[in-house]
Amino acid sequence: MQREMLKRVQHDSVVQHDSKLTASGIPTQEDLEKVTPPPERLDKGPCVIVECFQKIPCDPCVDACPKGVITIQGNINNLPVVDYEKCTGCGVCISACPGLAIFVIDKKTGIVMLPYEFIPVPEKGDTVDGLNRKGEKVCDAEVVKVLNTKKQDRTAIIHIRIPRNLVMEVRNIRVTVGLLR
Ligand code: SF4
Ligand code: SF4
Repeated sequence: MQREMLKRVQHDSVVQHDSKLTASGIPTQEDLEKVTPPPERLDKGPCVIVECFQKIPCDPCVDACPKGVITIQGNINNLPVVDYEKCTGCGVCISACPGLAIFVIDKKTGIVMLPYEFIPVPEKGDTVDGLNRKGEKVCDAEVVKVLNTKKQDRTAIIHIRIPRNLVMEVRNIRVTVGLLR
């Protein structure tokens, strides 16, 4: 319960902190360039992308990573710093972020791992809508894996397969009406 409250308080902070981003809700191309792993790292396989743009007192991502990939240097309000070369693409950090700002992408396979807090939670084998950062459908997405245990603390991790050229675009999913069970 305490952790749930902490997650909620931190998430509210994310929503309230940066009025510019809150107004649009969408990062600019310039924002994204700052958090995109180098092309040579993306060519190697699955890699984390931390789309965290707001200076807030938040750091669960740091403790969540078993490899020490994510650090926040100096002040807790500073933005996370990511050592992409150390990242294994395991995805463990995804559900720890109250801002739903962490993803793992794999350019080679077209797999995107993303956080999901809506219901119904899709199931492996489902086809859902792949949405861009504006919430617009850009493709069909095949659900290839779902992690939704106590460990994820109600922030499920959904693995989807999409066209490889869209791994930098798709950041959410929508469960289509036909799948409502
Ligand atoms: S994907 Fe795994 S290795 Fe990479 S930052 Fe997240 S927890 Fe660490
Ligand atoms: S990535 Fe998530 S957990 Fe880490 S500082 Fe940003 S909002 Fe907090």
